[in-house]
Amino acid sequence: MASIEVIQGDITTLSLDAIVNAANKCMLGGGGVDGAIHRAAGPQLLEACRAVPIVRGDVRCPTGECRITPGFNLPARYVIHTVGPVWDGGGYGEREQLASCYRNALSIAASHKLKTIAFPAISCGVYGFPIDEASRISITTIRHFFETSPSTVQTVTLVAFNDELFRQWKETLAM
Ligand code: ADP
Repeated sequence: MASIEVIQGDITTLSLDAIVNAANKCMLGGGGVDGAIHRAAGPQLLEACRAVPIVRGDVRCPTGECRITPGFNLPARYVIHTVGPVWDGGGYGEREQLASCYRNALSIAASHKLKTIAFPAISCGVYGFPIDEASRISITTIRHFFETSPSTVQTVTLVAFNDELFRQWKETLAM
């Protein structure tokens, strides 16, 4: 069973096998953690994202799915890009989509034989997901993944960017 830890800080500084990016569907960068990751990784990351095949329209990664690229100038070896749901009241499958982000990221990490991975609070910025629910969904999904799937992943780090998230994740983890 992998261990789950919560830290407060900047995900772009972590030397792990992979960090997860809360990207958008076109994967061409954005604000929040996405912007921070692209700035720290350098322009090669944008090139690698552009090279990800288009699924439809300008979509490279549909909501709930993941795509993996190298980390380039980041201390992390890989970036696992995932697209969280935009919160619209909870009646549009947002909870299941958020769970898919965590599950698919862990599954792609295992398929690359990675041992350490860090997540930001996917959808908890401009996408507006309620923090208490997002915190429960993330931890429940991660625990369930390790209970049901053999995996190379040994440590999952949840990276809170503010005090509220840090407290919430710590509290949920203790339950
Ligand atoms: P989304 O569009 O999925 O809501 P955001 O990037 O707006 O994504 O926010 C996701 C979470 O990432 C928010 O909780 C935000 O505070 C956090 N965040 C922003 N920058 C960083 C960073 N450098 N490291 C870790 N978390 C970050």
